[in-house]
Amino acid sequence: MKLLGLLYSGKAKSVYRTDCPGELVITFRDDITAFDGGKKDNLKEKGRLNLEVSVFFFELLEKSGVATHYIGKLGEDSIVARELTMIPLEVIVRNIAAGSMVRTYPIKEGTKLDPPIIVIDYKDDSRHDPMLNDDIIMALKIVTGEELAAIKQMALRVNEVLRDYLATIGIDLVDFKLEFGKQDGTLYVGDEISMDSMRLWDKKTGESLDKDVYRFSKGDVMASYRMVASRITGWK
Ligand code: 5GP
Repeated sequence: MKLLGLLYSGKAKSVYRTDCPGELVITFRDDITAFDGGKKDNLKEKGRLNLEVSVFFFELLEKSGVATHYIGKLGEDSIVARELTMIPLEVIVRNIAAGSMVRTYPIKEGTKLDPPIIVIDYKDDSRHDPMLNDDIIMALKIVTGEELAAIKQMALRVNEVLRDYLATIGIDLVDFKLEFGKQDGTLYVGDEISMDSMRLWDKKTGESLDKDVYRFSKGDVMASYRMVASRITGWK
């Protein structure tokens, strides 16, 4: 496979066209940002750790019958992925109240949310990713009602698979964000599923094992990322 040029560069990943029709290469960079890009750093190895965890979760999801854009790994920092028409939604599933949920609503951090809650934001940094509801999604014609129902169902299935796996290694899946896209009319989970897009708490200590360590300067973010990546993927 040949890389044909940069298609898009986001805050932490770059996407390249390839000579294989319908396939892209996505490179996970070491850049890390928070607060709409207000806090920025470049942390050696971060891209590779997020990539390894994303690959592990994409493979687990595929085995569990969830369609993802993941095709294969390419070197240390890239994946080959299906080229999707991305849907500009950030689909967040929450099992435990934290983050913006406790900042916005009268609910205590750590409150279990059973059944889990789905929150959908409009992916647009210039508008600070405003929260949507079903009626606004329909009015903006972002997806059809059927597609929205399918997206929610897939998001809940992803939640079951990830939450159940993480529970076996002593980690609570607090919340996470997914992005979806379509190729030839089929819906796929796209983007990444990594420490940058999830909240993970150690079940015993309650310690954060995700980007909150960086956001709120809770400690050595790379030590946390290395430790949690090794727990998740089973590396020694
Ligand atoms: P919150 O709404 O509490 O800030 O975020 C909920 C969950 O979704 C967290 O796990 C957070 O990391 C993830 N999330 C929300 N928005 C974004 C985003 O723009 N980028 C990434 N990578 N993750 C996000």
